This record gives sequence, C-alpha cells and structure tokens, in this order.
Amino acid sequence: MRLQGLRPLQLGRFSTVRGGGRAWSVAVLTLATSVAACAPDGPPSVSSPSTATALSTTATSPTTTSTATGTTGSSTTAAATSTSTTTVALERSTSVGDRRYPSLGTAGIDVESYDVELEIDPDRRLLAGTVTVTGTFTAATDQLSFDLDGPEVRSATVDDATVEVRVDGSDLIVALDDPGSPGERFVAAFEIVTAVDSGPSFGPDAGIFASQGGLWSVNEPDGVSTWMPVNDHPTDKAVWTFRLTVPTGFEAIANGALVDIVADDGATTWVWHQDELMASYLVLLLVDDYDLVDDGAIEVGGATVELRHVVRSDRRDDLDRYLDITRRQLEFFTALFGPYPFDRYGLAIADSQPGLAMETQGLPLFSSTDLDGTLGPLQHLLLAHELAHQWFGNAVSPATWDDIWLNEGFATYAQMLWFDEVGLSTLESEAELALRTLPDDGWPLSAPTDLFGTVSYNGGAVALHALRLVVGDEAFFATLRAWVLEHDDAAASTDDFQRTAERVSGRDLDEFFETWVHAPDGPPDAFPVVSATEDG
Ligand SMILES: [Zn+2]
Repeated sequence: MRLQGLRPLQLGRFSTVRGGGRAWSVAVLTLATSVAACAPDGPPSVSSPSTATALSTTATSPTTTSTATGTTGSSTTAAATSTSTTTVALERSTSVGDRRYPSLGTAGIDVESYDVELEIDPDRRLLAGTVTVTGTFTAATDQLSFDLDGPEVRSATVDDATVEVRVDGSDLIVALDDPGSPGERFVAAFEIVTAVDSGPSFGPDAGIFASQGGLWSVNEPDGVSTWMPVNDHPTDKAVWTFRLTVPTGFEAIANGALVDIVADDGATTWVWHQDELMASYLVLLLVDDYDLVDDGAIEVGGATVELRHVVRSDRRDDLDRYLDITRRQLEFFTALFGPYPFDRYGLAIADSQPGLAMETQGLPLFSSTDLDGTLGPLQHLLLAHELAHQWFGNAVSPATWDDIWLNEGFATYAQMLWFDEVGLSTLESEAELALRTLPDDGWPLSAPTDLFGTVSYNGGAVALHALRLVVGDEAFFATLRAWVLEHDDAAASTDDFQRTAERVSGRDLDEFFETWVHAPDGPPDAFPVVSATEDG
C-alpha cells in the first residue's frame, strides 16, 4: 500500500512537487511521499484478546467433559488434562494469535475457497447474498469461527445443515454438534446483508467505501471482515470466486480471470475467479462505470502474463500513458526478482482516495487523481511500488502484521531501484536520503509502532540496502529470488527472511539483523562500509 502524506506540511510539499514542473527535486519528492501513519494502525488492542481455549472431550462423545487450562492468544492446542487414552483435545480458537491484531484469523482451519455471491446496490450502498467457505479442519474443534465485523447474518449452514450463529465481538461463531477432526472438510454458507456506511475516504478502518458513482474497497489489513465472513489473516490464503450482480450500466470488478458476464433483466452478474492463492487483504472489489482494457500479453521471464486493465470510463484515455511503462517495469522487476508470480496483471484506476494505492492481487488499485494521464515521479513511484508488491506481499505474504516491512520495505526499495533505472535519481542518493530522514521513534523495524509508517517503508528499504552492501549484489538479488521461490503462495516471517539470506549468502547474519532489523532504537546513522574486495 502507499498512502501519501495527508498532513498539511506534506500536502504542501506534495503540491510543490507536482506543480514544480521541470524544477522538481527527487529529494523533495522522497520526503513528500513519506507515508503518513495510517489511521487503522495503533497499539495492539488489549480489549479483544483471543478467545482461544482448549478443552478436552472423549472421542466418542461430543459432550465436553472437562475444561483444560487453555492457552490464550495463540493457536496452541493445550494438551487435554484427562488421562483417558480416548480423549482428544478440542480447540476453540477464534484467532491466529497475531500480536498486533489479537482477534484476527482463526487457527484450526485451512480455508480452500471462498465463493462470494453478492447482489450489490451501489445507490443504496447495500450488499446482500451468500458467502460459501470451503475448507479443512486442522485441529479438533467443536466450533467454527470467522472474522466478521458489521454485516448481518440472516442464515447459515454447515455441510448443508442449518446452524445457529453467534456474534462475539468481531467473531462469527458456529457451534458444531459434531466436532470437526483434523483433515475433515467443511462447507459453511452464510447469507449476509452488508450496509456500507463509510464515506469516500479511507480510514479509520479498511473496508468498502462509497465514491461519487459507485463503491471501492481497500482491505488491508482487515477490511474484508467488515463486509463478509472470512478467515482474515494472510496465513490462510485461498482461491476466490466472486459472482457480483450489479444494476445494468455498472461494472463489478474483482481479482482474477473474468470468467462470465451474465445479463438478466436490468442486472448483470460479473463472475471473477482467482485460482491463484490469495490472502484476504488483497481482495479488490469495485463497482462503478468501468472500461476493461485488454492489452494482450507479455512474454517475460519465460512466462506469459496477460495484461488487462480497468479504468473508469470517463478516464479511459488516461490509461494509455501507463501501458508502456507497465510492460517495462514487468521486464525490469522480473529480471531482478524472478518470474512474475501470477498469470495476469493490470492497473485498476478508480474514483478512490487520492494518494492511496493498494497492491490488490494481480490488479492493483490507483486513484484516477494520481494516475491522471501524466507520467511524473509520483506515477513512476506508485506504479513501481504496487507492481513490486506482487512479489513481496502477494506471492510471499507477511506471517504476522509485525512483519509488514517484508511488504513495504521491499516495495519501497523496488521504487528506488526503478528511479535509478530510469534516471529519476540514483539508488545511493535515495537510500542515503531515506537513512538520513528516518524517524527517531517507532522502532524496531521487526515490530514497528505504525503499520503503514516511515519505519516500515523507508526503514525497511534502508535495511535491504544495508544487506546488499554487506552480502554483495549477486547474493542480495539471489536472496530476493530465493525468498519468493521458497515462500510463494504462503506467508513468511522476518526470521524466515534471515534464514534465506544466510543460506544464500553463506554468512551468519545474526549481528546484521540485530543491528538493522531488530534494533529497538532503529538502525545506525551510516550504511556499512564495505571494501571493494568484499563486495560481490
Ligand atoms: Zn505498499
């Protein structure tokens, strides 16, 4: 994600840059585009701890026989206290135990697919329909739980049997008459109604927002749970199908391949299928008057990537300015990071919040105010940043939200690489500037105070540049490629990244990570000085 600074000072700088014409300065640009602390972020909530508990029951009876001293706030399944050999531990997790968002996600299930069938009325700002979740239990449990914060649930079934649901805070809980066992599949369907009560601006919470003519969404980190039941954590990726029915004259856009358009009596159903695993925070949902623009395909890195863009109809011509740079960036980043991780790519240019861009999978979201048909530093920056996220964030997602620098630091470093490539700046000057202007507070990088703050973005890029200086260019880019290959379609942590970097470089990087990633007061004031002979 990129959220341009919205503070008056930064807006002033932003205007200076954009109005500065040929006189703009990259140094000012970098300052101007430092992200503001993002509204949904904040200290970890202590008011909604995980309700994960464990209890024991005999395998032959679903009746609870005793309560174990369960762990809380984690997915750990406590051992049953009973000594009976027929006893199994039942888990009642409503969280995956993410420190920053203690109530998000559900341990004990692995969602395979979401089928999101919604009628959307953009004028009344209502979504109504059925969300079907297919998955597998990974732990024994007598309840099924999803994140849900707002929508009304009208009815529910599990494996075709009608069930009662209970809402506890931001959790939707179904008690199971027959406990689920590890490896057992489930199909849960929820009939929901969601009223969009957000205005046009992002924040304080992610989710769906109303624009002049339709609806748009940004779902990082937990926005999807504000409009449908979901295991809303990047550790549980799934395949997604969207069947979105909108009044004729509107287009409904989501991730993946457009597999069908069915027109029927004043309404049109748009069917999108994302068959590559996707974290929930990367869902895109747009309803407005859009043109879908097919730009063929590109052969890059030994693979074919389909190019299809989405742009508001009244801004169709603006898109042309970005077709060529998108192809050039795909080639540039593929050469550095390895094969583009998905089958398709495109830009979604929407009537969304100016200054905000989001790396929604395969189809990143941009505001038509930012991608306005011009191609200056801001456009280069946003396009590079969101494309780089397809590798860093989307293919490899953060294991916890504390690992956000693995998304934002990498995308910010990719921006710098692109600026260097096209001569907008040099990598060294961008990295030096980022290091010099790091904040005093908000550290460590591995657990930043602000999810979308300068620490995660510029601090992460600075750590990567330091790593590159220490291990050399060859090992550095080999590390990035190995990182994506090893953790594609999954989620990984800062420790995982250290392991990859150590294996690829053949170095012990404990001290490096303590200094540049885990330091509670931030990194040193200067980059490592590496002699020419050490530099790979
Ligand atoms: Zn980003």
